[in-house]
Amino acid sequence: MAEALRAVRGMNDILPDEARLWQRFEDTTRTLLERYGYRNIRTPLLEHTALFRRSIGEATDIVEKEMYSFQDELNGEHLTLRPECTASTVRAVIEHNLLYNGPQRLWYVGPMFRHERPQKGRYRQFHQIGAEALGYPGPDVDAEQLLFCARLWRDLGIAGAVRLEINSLGAADERAAHRAALIEHFAAHRDALDADSTRRLVTNPLRILDSKNPAMQGLIEAAPRLLDHLGDASRAHFEALQSMLREGGLAFTINPRLVRGLDYYNLTVYEWVTDRLGAQGTICGGGRYDGLVEQIGGKPAPAAGFAMGVERVLALMAEMAPAPAAQTDVYVVHQGEQASRLALPVAEQLRDAGIAAVMHAGGGGFKAQMRRADASGAMFAVI
Ligand code: ATP
Ligand code: MG
Repeated sequence: MAEALRAVRGMNDILPDEARLWQRFEDTTRTLLERYGYRNIRTPLLEHTALFRRSIGEATDIVEKEMYSFQDELNGEHLTLRPECTASTVRAVIEHNLLYNGPQRLWYVGPMFRHERPQKGRYRQFHQIGAEALGYPGPDVDAEQLLFCARLWRDLGIAGAVRLEINSLGAADERAAHRAALIEHFAAHRDALDADSTRRLVTNPLRILDSKNPAMQGLIEAAPRLLDHLGDASRAHFEALQSMLREGGLAFTINPRLVRGLDYYNLTVYEWVTDRLGAQGTICGGGRYDGLVEQIGGKPAPAAGFAMGVERVLALMAEMAPAPAAQTDVYVVHQGEQASRLALPVAEQLRDAGIAAVMHAGGGGFKAQMRRADASGAMFAVI
């Protein structure tokens, strides 16, 4: 026998038993997104590497060490399997001039690829559903996206286990002033910095705040806050968002250390977190990225969006909600040549009537067939 081939490490098969939950999640999310006026966009899994380097940022975990990048052997192009879909969406919007028709609310779903150490809730191929509102300065659409998420958590039965953390990253000049304060703070404690943070002290000190290293947390806790460097306009945006959330009945906490793992964010940033999934507790993250459209080569346009990790949301659903019911209504059992000739049209008639019917195939006695009928989860057997 030949040696059995296996899937690539960190890349999962989704088997039929699990796929049911995936479909329930996707159906619920899609229906709700469309109810909020979001329209579906589908972009390629492969993009030019330059797209992600320019948008996500050179000194981020994703670009530094997580991207599946390679050179096409046939034409020498530098390509990357998408690690996220905001950059691709913005690229497509610019390329097809979608903003010419006014602002756009778009959503996507699909696999993303990051070369991380596989563990519970962290895979090398994982899935995101995300929404992007382009051409809207906010903060009303920021609040609307958060209300969408909250409604989705309720519909999925996981609202009781997630909480919302928000922060503001202000404007570029405010981040520059904060950056100087950060460098001063971390440079004074140079000996306590790990290798990543030492490098980022020069390349991108804000990224140090995103460090997951427990040994760094004390120093990060004591770092100067970006919130203290916000100007009037940024402060007003943040306060308006907060009052809209309060009016919408949405509870949140302000986390001044929340910076997100991608460089394109400004003003609003947020994460939905749970305590039920161990270390991989962030199920959804998002915020505003007003500079990205211009950065990728489009006419300046404000924008905001979020992406949720499907595997993590499903893990939470599996913990909290009962598994969805079987989809088969009827199992068609038949024996003997004449009956078998009837089975196919009978099953077709049932389907005509909108009934989910599985026809037994492959022969076998009544007893074996009835056992199959039972295992199918069908409510009825038609004999
Ligand atoms: P983390 O801090 O967990 O590494 P991140 O900040 O890198 O997350 P984002 O780039 O903001 O994640 O992606 C949005 C969401 O996608 C995350 O909140 C998470 O739910 C999910 N996600 C990110 N990376 C992975 C992964 N490798 N495997 C599974 N889900 C992931
Ligand atoms: Mg990450």
